[in-house]
Amino acid sequence: MITREDSDPLSPQSLRREFCVSGQRLWQWREAARQQAIAADIPLEEVDWLLQDLAGLDRPSLRLETFKDKAEILLRLPLSELTTLWEHRIRDRVPVQYLTGVAPWRQFLLNVSPAVLIPRPETECLIDLAIAAVPPTPHTPRPTPHLSHQHWADLGTGSGAIAIGLATAFPAATIHAVDCSAAALAIAQSNAQTLHLTEHIQFYEGSWLQPLVHLRGRLSGMVANPPYIPSEMVPALQPEVARHEPHLALDGGADGLDCLRHLVAVAPEYLQSGGIWLVETMAGQAIAVAALLQQQGNYDQIQIHPDLTGIDRFVLAYRC
Ligand code: GLN
Repeated sequence: MITREDSDPLSPQSLRREFCVSGQRLWQWREAARQQAIAADIPLEEVDWLLQDLAGLDRPSLRLETFKDKAEILLRLPLSELTTLWEHRIRDRVPVQYLTGVAPWRQFLLNVSPAVLIPRPETECLIDLAIAAVPPTPHTPRPTPHLSHQHWADLGTGSGAIAIGLATAFPAATIHAVDCSAAALAIAQSNAQTLHLTEHIQFYEGSWLQPLVHLRGRLSGMVANPPYIPSEMVPALQPEVARHEPHLALDGGADGLDCLRHLVAVAPEYLQSGGIWLVETMAGQAIAVAALLQQQGNYDQIQIHPDLTGIDRFVLAYRC
């Protein structure tokens, strides 16, 4: 049970003890939460994500339940608030990442809020594709410096995940991260700060490539996970997404391709010859996006790549 220092409720001792719970009590809490998760068809591991972030428990002690034998476990908030958070998860379908304020992505733990899309595991592939797409020697015969030493853009950066992934993959490059949402940029900047990457990432508020006019013809690569869900499908997405994630980051217009079409059309003006155009799409859209690139006429080596589950989801091309 949560214990409280009655004699002096504001003493540091009482503040510490207020967030303290026995291992046995937390085990009971976890058992009850797991039952609720099963009943609500929510993945069981989410209970443990919450406990890892808010009770500082590690995965082995949760998996083996050794935390049960601890006399005291310090929580970042009272157990009653943990219960309230879990009720939000179950009843209101709030994604657990918004409850804890963090989401793991690649090797990073990123801050997230409802102002940004929760970075998805499939999006991690974009960074590996960008790394693999950079030729070991300059793609063009011109005497240009190696692509990884140049300018890359992450358009619609959201939490900053892609920009952070690129900055880590290409330490000598400058990453230009753009978003039209000031609230999203604030989250992206806080993530770059926490990861000591602010010197490598520049942030811009604006629409797609428009804030990067000074880089026209000079971009080595352009990466984006733009909104691509057809408008009428957005309300039908799972409630965690439809009710809580920003529709600005999801809604790609009538056929879902509005932003992708725009990026196909405007990027050739910004990419240098041999520069990389790389996006994530929805299942079923990749062929249409490859066709748009072909029709545009300024791209070659157009490629479609699958995600880890085998769904064709990424489209890559080089500026001629
Ligand atoms: N992959 C996200 C989803 O399935 C959508 C991301 C996007 O529109 N770019 O909800």
